[in-house]
Amino acid sequence: MAKKKATKKAVSKKVAKKKVAKKAAKKKVAKKKATKKVAKKATKKKVAKKAAKKKVAKKATKKKVVKKATKKKVAKKATKKKVAKKATKKVAKKAKKVAKKATKQVKKVVKKATQKVSKDQGVDKKALFNSILELIKNTSTVIPDDVQKVILEGLAREEKNTTAEYAMNIITNNIEIAKKKIQPLCQDTGTIIFYVDVPKGFVQSDFTKICHKAVVKATEMGYLRQNSVDSLTGENKGMNIGPGHPSIHFHEHNKKTIDMRLMLKAGGCENVGAQYAMPYNELGAGRDLAGVRKVILDAVQKAQGKGCGPGVLGVCIGGDRGAGYTHSKEQLFRKLDDTNEVEVLADLEKDIVETANKLGIGPMGFGGKTTLMGCKIGTLNRLPASYYVSISYMCWAFRRQGVALKNDGSINKWLY
Ligand code: SF4
Repeated sequence: MAKKKATKKAVSKKVAKKKVAKKAAKKKVAKKKATKKVAKKATKKKVAKKAAKKKVAKKATKKKVVKKATKKKVAKKATKKKVAKKATKKVAKKAKKVAKKATKQVKKVVKKATQKVSKDQGVDKKALFNSILELIKNTSTVIPDDVQKVILEGLAREEKNTTAEYAMNIITNNIEIAKKKIQPLCQDTGTIIFYVDVPKGFVQSDFTKICHKAVVKATEMGYLRQNSVDSLTGENKGMNIGPGHPSIHFHEHNKKTIDMRLMLKAGGCENVGAQYAMPYNELGAGRDLAGVRKVILDAVQKAQGKGCGPGVLGVCIGGDRGAGYTHSKEQLFRKLDDTNEVEVLADLEKDIVETANKLGIGPMGFGGKTTLMGCKIGTLNRLPASYYVSISYMCWAFRRQGVALKNDGSINKWLY
């Protein structure tokens, strides 16, 4: 029994031991589990911490990267800005340069245009056209005062009830009617000759264009006869425009304004113009003023009233053949009552008129005391080998007028 008891005790002890061991094992396992759990937890924490750290680091890195990128971006932006600024500066500079150049060019053009205008006296084309048209109209229809005065003197000089007086009466009546009706003084309105005094830099081609338009208009309006024909074919285009017609002579003067003179030189009187190469042995005329006097009076004799006297002579001593004739016509722009500045020529002019009026040729060659209304003599240098006396004859229908223009091209005043 004791043994049994001991055994029991031993068994129970064993069981207890086992139990304890089991418990201990359980504890151990639990502990192990707990430790594992703790370790796992710790590991987890560690991992989490690590991850957090990593995250933070990553975040920081990211931030850093972003910052770096931002910096880069900013720098890039700044660089870009800088570049852009530089480029803008460059472009602006270039644009400024271009603008400056353009401005300069514009200024140049404006200056040129202004120059053109100012040199043309700021001429308004329409005003100039109207002035030329008015000049043509007046030249064609109204005899200048200085000429009318001499015609009336001639009428008064002629004996009453003579053919000469009759002719002078017809002439004066004709003048009145033409003026009143604004019609040409004679059916032949002649070669259209302009003499234009212009300031420095005047654009002649512009004036010529306007002048041609005015001539065409004046022809349409009947102030000019359709008078210009092709020399080979005889064709008349009815405009009075063609090579050499109208004839425009430009002269530069020191004034800033334009003076414009017009002569309508008829065919009948042009035909009796003459040029003498001196000495002119036929008349025993030498190369001196006495010889000049002889040939001038010879021309008057030969005309015998043809060319519709009483007329006016324009004479040039010297020059070549072309310049001589041109200069002789320019003398016709002088006023009939002026006095030649060269005394010997002034005396010769007076002498020629007085002598011619004693030749008995008279108006239209009908006899009488009025053969010449005036004689105007100019000179040009000549070659020692040549001595020309060129004589242009202007009929009683002495159509020449002139205007001084205002800066805008409108008429300032009439010159005759
Ligand atoms: S010369 Fe004179 S007046 Fe005689 S027809 Fe010719 S334009 Fe008339």
